[in-house]
Amino acid sequence: MLFQFAPIIPVYVLVAALMLLLSVRTWALRPARGAMAWSMTMFFCAIFAIGSCLEMAFAIPVLKLAMNRVIYLGTTGFVFFWGVFAIQYSNRGRWLSRVTVPLLAVVPVAAFLLALFAEQHQLLYRAYSFVNVNGLLTGVVVDYGSAFWVWVGYSYVVFIGSWLLLLWEAIQSHAIFRSQIWLIILASAIPMLTYVAQLFVPHSFTPFYPVAFAMILGGLIMLLAMTRYRFVDIIPVAYDQIFKSVKGGIIVIDLKGRIVGLNHAAEQILGCSEKEVLWKEMIDAFPKQRHLIRQFREVTETKTEVAMTEVGPYYELQIAPLYNYQQELAGRLIMFYDITERKQIEQKTLELSMERERVQLLQQFISHMSHDLRTPLATMKLGQYLLRKELGGQHAGRLDALDRQTERLTDMVESMLTLLQLEKDELRGLRNIDVNDLVAEVIEHHRTLAHERGTRLCFSPVRELPLVLANHDELAQAVTNLLVNAIYYAAGNDIMISTAHDQSSVILCVCDSGVGIAAEHLPHIFERFYRVDDARGTQFGGLGLGLTIAKAIVDRHAGSIDVHSRVGEGSEFSIRLPIGKAG
Ligand code: ADP
Repeated sequence: MLFQFAPIIPVYVLVAALMLLLSVRTWALRPARGAMAWSMTMFFCAIFAIGSCLEMAFAIPVLKLAMNRVIYLGTTGFVFFWGVFAIQYSNRGRWLSRVTVPLLAVVPVAAFLLALFAEQHQLLYRAYSFVNVNGLLTGVVVDYGSAFWVWVGYSYVVFIGSWLLLLWEAIQSHAIFRSQIWLIILASAIPMLTYVAQLFVPHSFTPFYPVAFAMILGGLIMLLAMTRYRFVDIIPVAYDQIFKSVKGGIIVIDLKGRIVGLNHAAEQILGCSEKEVLWKEMIDAFPKQRHLIRQFREVTETKTEVAMTEVGPYYELQIAPLYNYQQELAGRLIMFYDITERKQIEQKTLELSMERERVQLLQQFISHMSHDLRTPLATMKLGQYLLRKELGGQHAGRLDALDRQTERLTDMVESMLTLLQLEKDELRGLRNIDVNDLVAEVIEHHRTLAHERGTRLCFSPVRELPLVLANHDELAQAVTNLLVNAIYYAAGNDIMISTAHDQSSVILCVCDSGVGIAAEHLPHIFERFYRVDDARGTQFGGLGLGLTIAKAIVDRHAGSIDVHSRVGEGSEFSIRLPIGKAG
């Protein structure tokens, strides 16, 4: 009789099928950490089951012995790949090198080779016989050899080491991995411990080998781990990657408010390490953020902006409920992204738009006011003129003072309107202008004023000055403003006006050796309403708009205006204008 039947045979068939299924399923997930080693482990488990099944089924000693070798192939391969899997899965893949892998393989390979030639030596079995147990022909090891114990010892070391590695990993890893690891430890421990137990009480269960049942249980647990907890799946790996690498901070807290995980970004933002805060309550872990933690203690879902201190940094805080695989609330996910930069930009934009609005309002106000003042000023002037006539030389001094003040007020109103126009209107009326001629005209207009103030205007024009494309009146206004300032501040010294040019520009300089301007004022003198000192400005009737207007005009002609000055030595203002294109 070739075969014998034992009820355990279909159980082994089931084990083999289950293991093959697990092996094939995991093989498809190969890019995932540990998947290939796991697939191989299951494959060798299947070989073990097939070997055990046939060993039981064959009723002829020689075939039984042959199947014994298949069983060895299964167990040695299984133990080796299980070790590899545990190393890889616990993130210690770097341990596996060209040296360590062969070292790890030495004992299993040797055990298998010894098993192949078990009859030629006594290292594995000292005595092996076939007896009839419960009506079935069964191979019985009467006495084990020393190599067998080495192999068994090696297997125990591998298993205990692997469990320790996996346990450590389970403690360290995040919630999504923890359940998988527990299941895997359980799934491997059940058949392994059963096997050990069976070793010490041989044949008491024959033919109902408990290992076969334990393997079925283990296999089912693994199937659960794979389907439900996505064990050796690429998705949890991806989650883990994302968790670790996102720039935003993520903290996972359980229902009691204890920290069960936080990513690298959270560690950096909060200035702590995961080890320091793990399992602590939020409030104990981050006492500095007490007010925020209290504020959001009961909140399970929100998206808001928070500031760590009154002046930032600012974070977008998102709290989301965390459900476990049974869809029960298991904790909360706290996510926060630094939005300080965005906040600052928003703040600046807001300030800018408010400033723009303020300027617009001011401009409107000035424009309305200036227009409104024009009519009463004209009436006042006319009134003064008529009064002067009526009084016929009486109170001339008072009338002169009144005239000066009215004139000053008129100048101010006109300056403001000019500036507003320059800011509002487009540059028109451009023509080719000889700056020498224009300067000469302006000088002629101001000779009397200069004379009155005891200064002389000395003009040294350069010959053959290229023309510039400009609005004549505007440019004349700019030069006037510089010249009038120079006359007022020259303190009786001569004023030098000169022109020059280089390849691209025409340069005009107004140079006085008067009071000069202190360095701290220089960056501001072109700002509107800026006056170096109010007393000096009022004395000469300035409003602080002359240079602003000059700069606005030069700017809209694509030129530049510059100043060099020293207190007590004088000032040099220069205007640079681009040479106009021929034609
Ligand atoms: P203002 O109408 O008051 O003169 P400006 O805008 O023309 O206003 O000039 C701004 C300030 O620059 C003046 O208050 C004056 O103190 C200073 N300033 C301008 N030109 C000269 C100069 N040539 N010498 C000394 N100070 C000057």
